[in-house]
Amino acid sequence: MNSWSLIFDAFAPEEEKLRESLCTVGNGYFCTRGAAPEAVADEVHYPGTYLAGGYNRLKSEIAGRTVENEDLVNMPNWLSLSFRHEDGDWFDLGKVEILSYRQELDMKRGVLLRSVRFREDKGRISELRQRCLVHQRWHHLAALETTLVAENWSGCIEFRSALDGKVANNGVARYQGLNNKHLDPIKSEVINQDTILLKVQTVQSELRVAQTARTRVFRDGAPHPVSRKTAKELGYIAQHFHLHFAKGSQATIEKVVALFTSRDEAISECGLAACKEVARAAGFEKLLYEHSLAWEHLWCRFDMEIGLIESELVQRTQMILHLHIFHLLQTVSIHSIELDVGVPARGWHGEAYRGHIFWDELFIFPLLNLRMPEITRALLKYRYRRLNEARAAAQNAGFRGAMYPWQSSSEGREESQEIHFNPESGRWIFDNTRLQRHVNAAVAYNVLQYYQVTNDTEFLSFYGAEMILEIARFWASIATYNENHDRYEILGVMGPDEYHDAYPGAEAPGLNNNAYTNLMAVWVLCCALEVLQTLPDNRCRELCEAMGLEQKEIDLWETISRRMRLLFHSDGIISQFDGYDALEELDWDKYLEKYGKVMRLDRILGTQNDTPNRYKCSKQADVLMLFYLFSADELRELFQRLGYPFEYETIPKNIEYYLKRTSHGSTLSEVVHSWVLSRSDREGSWKLFAPALRSDIGDIQCGTTPEGIHLGAMAGTVDLVQRCYVGIEIRADALWLNPQLPREISHIRLRLRYRGHSLEIEVSKERMKLSCLECRVPPIMVGFKGKTVELGGGERVEFTL
Ligand code: BGC
Repeated sequence: MNSWSLIFDAFAPEEEKLRESLCTVGNGYFCTRGAAPEAVADEVHYPGTYLAGGYNRLKSEIAGRTVENEDLVNMPNWLSLSFRHEDGDWFDLGKVEILSYRQELDMKRGVLLRSVRFREDKGRISELRQRCLVHQRWHHLAALETTLVAENWSGCIEFRSALDGKVANNGVARYQGLNNKHLDPIKSEVINQDTILLKVQTVQSELRVAQTARTRVFRDGAPHPVSRKTAKELGYIAQHFHLHFAKGSQATIEKVVALFTSRDEAISECGLAACKEVARAAGFEKLLYEHSLAWEHLWCRFDMEIGLIESELVQRTQMILHLHIFHLLQTVSIHSIELDVGVPARGWHGEAYRGHIFWDELFIFPLLNLRMPEITRALLKYRYRRLNEARAAAQNAGFRGAMYPWQSSSEGREESQEIHFNPESGRWIFDNTRLQRHVNAAVAYNVLQYYQVTNDTEFLSFYGAEMILEIARFWASIATYNENHDRYEILGVMGPDEYHDAYPGAEAPGLNNNAYTNLMAVWVLCCALEVLQTLPDNRCRELCEAMGLEQKEIDLWETISRRMRLLFHSDGIISQFDGYDALEELDWDKYLEKYGKVMRLDRILGTQNDTPNRYKCSKQADVLMLFYLFSADELRELFQRLGYPFEYETIPKNIEYYLKRTSHGSTLSEVVHSWVLSRSDREGSWKLFAPALRSDIGDIQCGTTPEGIHLGAMAGTVDLVQRCYVGIEIRADALWLNPQLPREISHIRLRLRYRGHSLEIEVSKERMKLSCLECRVPPIMVGFKGKTVELGGGERVEFTL
């Protein structure tokens, strides 16, 4: 094992789809699952290529009603490459005897490698070696190199190199029964001797996509001309050619592919652009060199080293952290900056959640903020461009301001399904998750976090402030005054815990006074009041005029931010929502014993005609999210502002209460719980960190990772090492550090970007060293144990812990 490679050394058909997700290669512009190039979608394989933000809508008839879904479209499969003996079948791993097998995701260089030695029924033994990449520097390019060795035979082999647009969205079993044909063929064309073109268009969003493939043959390191035949069908084109193999000889097939869309900038037409790009592209070795160099540069910024006391775990933990960073950088990268895309909860790695954008950004942006904040800026602009849609949504629901959707994709309208299928009960059920209005607060929180790390006042002034103010306006308008309590309330919403969407037996969905939502609303209102103070006077005036924001409304924000209602149980526990205390306790032992895993308790209860709404059980952190997002000091201030008690025991008491009642049905859950435990119960924190690390590599949600990775948990675990264990907090214009390593971690070494500086931080149990690389920007303030010191380019400081 090495910490840079994810390696599989046997073919396991039942795991293949999981490995395809984990071995996806991409560059922020497009991603391709790590599928076997010879495979088509079937029981074992699911090849998929997804464009960042490549969505399309389709209507389907279900149970007498028409539903419309916007999906991340599975684009033509550019990987497609296969071969056969003149007297044999096309290569199929399932039909040969595998003598040796190795698949390696080399994360350092961003290459997926596969080598297979196999014997066919006629006793012929061959070796197949493949290398595949999606270029991290030239983001329209991808390449697949295939070498075939004839070990004990001689004969003729037919090769087929195709662009296959006859694909559909079939990656998620739950969505079967819905329309899934998103592509219309436009053109299949031979461009020249070695290049073919395929052009398709999405049926509704009219996104045209062109792929060109240049296939060349090499023998003994030199180009080897072959004559080719073309096979064309609607939405499909392939070149076939024959090669003679002498016993012991080999041949290398190099397929270089360019992908453009009608949305790309600086092009005339995507087909032309794809032809030009592939004609100019270098050969595989040079492409690989440039690609690896781009990855080396990325790793320079993003790599982190973690030392563990139990040394046998070091390599694996480090490898998983690499895997998580790797997939983040394949989903969003420098290439996302020119695109109008958000960060999808499941990566561009599969079709789960249809490539939609959720509040998961909250777990992802902090890592980007402290490494490449220009990416966060671009992703926040995805939200800014959809501010008008969010304004319209608020208005339609009878509110003011902006109401961002729970699930967002192309235009920013609400994309959550209204009904969905429960595979366990076989019934369609209503999906009320759109009532998670707290997503709005996450957008504002993300804007402020980005601003605090970067001090990007221009962004705040022209984009960020408007979002925060409109979101504040929304919270003020959804809050209603309750005379009996002389408090403001937020009614009919859902918190992050998706197990509770209604009161038991109630006709209408929604819960009242979800503590997380209410407190986040207060935080947004305070933040908006502060932003009004921070903005330059002229910009503040412009914004208030444009938004029609008057002092009366600002005064109301001030009032609500002091009189929002929170509920507490009799023992002082913060009530997840009004009425939570009255719910029944769940017999956890009974369910654990019967089902082993209770992550999807909602589905288990569903099969028994029961619902989690009746019980004190959470899918994921809800109240505890507050301790994840805010320090104890910040919370104390918020509680004091509201006139509620906040004691030293509040945090550990609430953690203990809710952790016992949580099933971790979302991969985000363990990240949050591990984080909130890190200060009070380091052992407990580490125990939850381990499953959080295994979320995807171990597919701990039982079959969800094959449909796409969980980017929030991936980025969240890396951020946990970074911000939680190193104790990084950006507060009052200073970078505060307060390391607290779990017993198991001996040291952490990482690099950060903070306000134009590149910092190297090394933390051990005894000391912390900080060095600032040479640069010409003003010094920063670094805080430790209540004191700040100034640190300029080329300087270093050391603290004893
Ligand atoms: C979680 C949400 C999350 C979504 C997308 C759901 O299972 O409950 O909190 O936003 O997945 O990752």
